[in-house]
Amino acid sequence: MSLSETNSRIEAACIKAGRAADTVKLIAVSKVQPLDRVQAVLDEGHRLFGENRVQEAAGKWPGFRERYGSIDVHLIGPLQSNKARQAMELFQAIHSVDRPKLAKTIARLAQEIGKCPDIFLQVNTGEEPQKAGVLPTEADAFVAECRALDLPVHGLMCIPPVDEEPSLHFALLAKIAKRNDLTGLSMGMSSDFESAIVLGATHVRVGSAIFGERQAT
Ligand SMILES: *Cc1c(COP(=O)(O)O)cnc(C)c1O
Repeated sequence: MSLSETNSRIEAACIKAGRAADTVKLIAVSKVQPLDRVQAVLDEGHRLFGENRVQEAAGKWPGFRERYGSIDVHLIGPLQSNKARQAMELFQAIHSVDRPKLAKTIARLAQEIGKCPDIFLQVNTGEEPQKAGVLPTEADAFVAECRALDLPVHGLMCIPPVDEEPSLHFALLAKIAKRNDLTGLSMGMSSDFESAIVLGATHVRVGSAIFGERQAT
């Protein structure tokens, strides 16, 4: 398990899918990982990371950016409206925009701050009550609403149910993206990123396959 092994697996999946390797971005998900492991991946030259909590990211990335220069960090976890401003200052992309209220807050802040991270809209493809995201049937309207707010909507994101075949969810997300003319697809984690790539993922979010198992939190 390592960065180089993950990169090789991504390349192999791209070849299998007939895609150029540079069409897939690897987001190294560094949440709750010990800092020395994160530093090792930075030392290998990787510069794109994912975090799922604003607070945790705020404690980690300003320091690393001071030492390593510019690093892209994407928010992949749920965002409360009252943390939106901080998130927009910290992250280059937000993958978890999952409700109109949050979209409106981000749009208002973007006017104020004068910039906005790339936006991915989260779709609850498994229609799980406990999971964030708009339902598949609401997705087209949500895309339109976010575009009307002038948000830079880059693509869609999903987290498939743990006990279902992820490919079905990746295919559904790809279909919704296609009919909305969206090119970004944030899908695929350690256990399933190869099948996500075959189904069109542009951003895979891989944690434990790079860093090792996370400590329980
Ligand atoms: C933690 C997390 C990941 C990475 O999970 P791994 O199984 O460790 O690769 C990907 N996406 C989201 C939204 C996460 O919270």
